[in-house]
Amino acid sequence: MNRTGFLSHELFYWHDTGRWAGVYMPGPTSQPLEHVESEASKRRIESLLAVSGVIPQLQGLEPRPATDDELCRVHTPAYIDRLEKLAANGGGEAGPGTPMGYHSAEAARLAAGGAITAVEAAFADGPRRTYCLLRPPGHHAERESAIGFCLYNSVAIAAHAAKDQGARRVAIIDWDVHHGNGTQQAFWDDPDTLFVSIHQDGLFPPGSGAIEQSGGDGAPGGIINVPLPPGSGHGAYLAAFDRVVVPAVDAFEPDIILISAGQDGGFYDPMARQMCLAETYQQLTARVLDLANRHAEGRLVALHEGGYSPFQTPFLTAAVVCELASLPHIPDPSSLWTREVPGQELQPHQDERIEAVLAHHRPFGLLG
Ligand SMILES: [Zn+2]
Repeated sequence: MNRTGFLSHELFYWHDTGRWAGVYMPGPTSQPLEHVESEASKRRIESLLAVSGVIPQLQGLEPRPATDDELCRVHTPAYIDRLEKLAANGGGEAGPGTPMGYHSAEAARLAAGGAITAVEAAFADGPRRTYCLLRPPGHHAERESAIGFCLYNSVAIAAHAAKDQGARRVAIIDWDVHHGNGTQQAFWDDPDTLFVSIHQDGLFPPGSGAIEQSGGDGAPGGIINVPLPPGSGHGAYLAAFDRVVVPAVDAFEPDIILISAGQDGGFYDPMARQMCLAETYQQLTARVLDLANRHAEGRLVALHEGGYSPFQTPFLTAAVVCELASLPHIPDPSSLWTREVPGQELQPHQDERIEAVLAHHRPFGLLG
């Protein structure tokens, strides 16, 4: 049996974001379509893994719902109550651009619980590493607000669960193309949780994820933001990883690594302007695996966040899953030409941005 876990659940697909037109809310000139964060692209990930014979080679994990106490490590009781009442009344807007339906609060609770399930397995006799195909996503969700399609911040809740399991230090690597503002808020002053985010500069949420946002008085330098310019591709992502993420995590020596795995930096993603390839995500995953093996006895839990191309995101996500499980890769049919597009190599202005991150963080120690 392959010792890599896979966690998914039918209820995740029942989270109903309604008949929005992409990110346009229903209105007089908005012809109904699907919300951009829809069931379809996530189901297509699981379908690709199934048809390629990957899922039977993984150890299936069954998520359990997070308890109120577990959710309240990150959110307030009033917020949880508000989401549950909204769902019970058939749904509505939980926050800006974040519609929910009848099953959404339950799905979000199960997604957070699924993240905990995978963390607990990593510290017990379950798989040390697991990919959780969660929905709704979580990294934008703040203490009392739903934003950016996120309801509960599953990765932050999972980090607390890891500490309950005995982890002294937890590293969260967020490669979703948007900034993990909710996770940053949750661990702003926590010296035992390192949060490293690579995202497109200034994309979402507005004003969030600047280099200078690097942790509060309780944990200066414990937040590392790498805001890459639009147009960044394979070379920029690998350079950011090799020069910032890997040395920071090496210095931090975590007992478990969590990945906010949003594959929305892909070439064809409609929600960003980056150019990543399947092999980009494969190589990022390989680096995190090395880090987990060096410091955390292999404990690594990847939690699905964004990824909005119904045709490319499945291949980008499969690259992560197959690398985690040491299985043969499923070629992305688009990579024949997308890898040849000019700009995939590290560009001088991208190199400068990485240097600026290093310069800001040198005084704090992890990147000294
Ligand atoms: Zn995203």
